[in-house]
Amino acid sequence: MKHFARVTTLAAALLSASLITGTVHAQLAPSAQPAAAPATAPAEARKANIVIIGTGGTIAGAGASAINTAAYQSAVVPVDKIIASVPEVSKVANVKGEQIFQIGSESFNNERLLKLGKRVSELLKQPDVDGIVITHGTDTIEETAYFLNLTLKSDKPVVVVGSMRPGTALGADGALNLYDAVLVASNPTSRGKGTLVVLNDEIHTGRDVTKSNTFKTETFRSAFGPLGYVVEGRSQYYRLPARPHTVQTEWDIDKIDKLPEVAVVYAYGNVNPASIDAAVKSGAKAIVYAATGNGSVGDYMVEPLKAARAKGVQIVRASRTGSGVVIRNAEQPDDKYDWIVTDDQMPQKARILMALALTKTNDSKALQQVFWKY
Ligand code: GLU
Repeated sequence: MKHFARVTTLAAALLSASLITGTVHAQLAPSAQPAAAPATAPAEARKANIVIIGTGGTIAGAGASAINTAAYQSAVVPVDKIIASVPEVSKVANVKGEQIFQIGSESFNNERLLKLGKRVSELLKQPDVDGIVITHGTDTIEETAYFLNLTLKSDKPVVVVGSMRPGTALGADGALNLYDAVLVASNPTSRGKGTLVVLNDEIHTGRDVTKSNTFKTETFRSAFGPLGYVVEGRSQYYRLPARPHTVQTEWDIDKIDKLPEVAVVYAYGNVNPASIDAAVKSGAKAIVYAATGNGSVGDYMVEPLKAARAKGVQIVRASRTGSGVVIRNAEQPDDKYDWIVTDDQMPQKARILMALALTKTNDSKALQQVFWKY
C-alpha cells in the first residue's frame, strides 16, 4: 500500500507546526486514551484506504482568537495539517490527503464542481482506494454533494464533510466531524448509499441535506431526517435513500465537460421583472424561479416568465420556503404554459438537477419526469 502514508508519522511531524493542533487536541484528549475505546467499535478485518480531498471552507479555517466561532478566515489550513491534527483517524483508516482547492465553498462554480467530480471519479477507480472524504465549506456543501450523488459511477463511499467553527475556536467541531467522516467512509455498510454528508454526529444523503442556520453547529437538516448517526466511533444507518443515485442515474461525471447555464431568480414582494430578462440575456437555458409558498407567481411576473419560455428557456417553479413540494398545475397552469415544477427540491439544488438534465434533453415533459424521479 505504498500510496498510503500512515498518518501517524505525518501527524508527529506536523503537530507542532499545526495552526489548530492545540485547540483540537484539547477537545479530543479523552478519546485519545486507548482505554477509552468504545466497546461497540466495529472490528474491521483491515483498515480502509481513504483519500481525503481538501477544498477549503471553515474546516480549513482559522480565527484570531478562541472566541471567534463565527468570524474567522476560511480556507487557510492545508488538508495535510488538518489530517495531522486528528491522529485518531489513522486508527480507523489509512489516509492520504490531496489538496484540490483552497476556497470558501461560495466560490464553487461549474468548472470547479466538474474538476472535483472528475478527480473523485478517477480515485474511485483505483482498486486500492476504498472511499473518499471531501473537506468542504458548509455554505454550498449540499450542492456539491447532490451533484456527486447524481454523477459518480461507483458504489464506494464518498463523504463530504465540513465544520461550522474553525479549528482555533472553543468548541470547534471540525476534528470530530472529520473523524466521523473517515469512519463513515471506511464502513462497508456505507457502500451503495450515494454521496453522504457527515456533520454534527449525523449522516445525511446528499440529495436531501441542506444548511438551515448561519452559525449553529446544528444547522444541517434533511426533510425526512438523517440516514444515520455516528456516535463513539461507530456509524449506524437507520434508513436508506429512496431516489436513484450514483450508478443508478443517467449521468456520468467522466462524460460531462460543460454544464449548461441555469439561473435561479428569487421571488419577493416587488420582485423586478427585469431579472427574468437579464437571466435570458445572460444565456440561461433554464430559470429556476424560487417562488413564494407553493410556487406562487405574482401577476406581474407571469408574462415575463411566459416570454422567457417562448424564447426556449425552460421555467422551473420552485419554492423559497425551504421545504415541501411544489404541486403541478396548482398555483399556475404548468401544462398550459409548458413550465416544470421542482417536486421537493430546493432552488439551489434544482439548479444542479436542471443543469444535468439539460445535458440529455430539452423536452419539458422529459425534464418534468427527471424532477419527479431524482
Ligand atoms: N463561507 C465558507 C464556506 O462555505 C465558510 C463557511 C463554512 O465552511 O462553514 O466555505
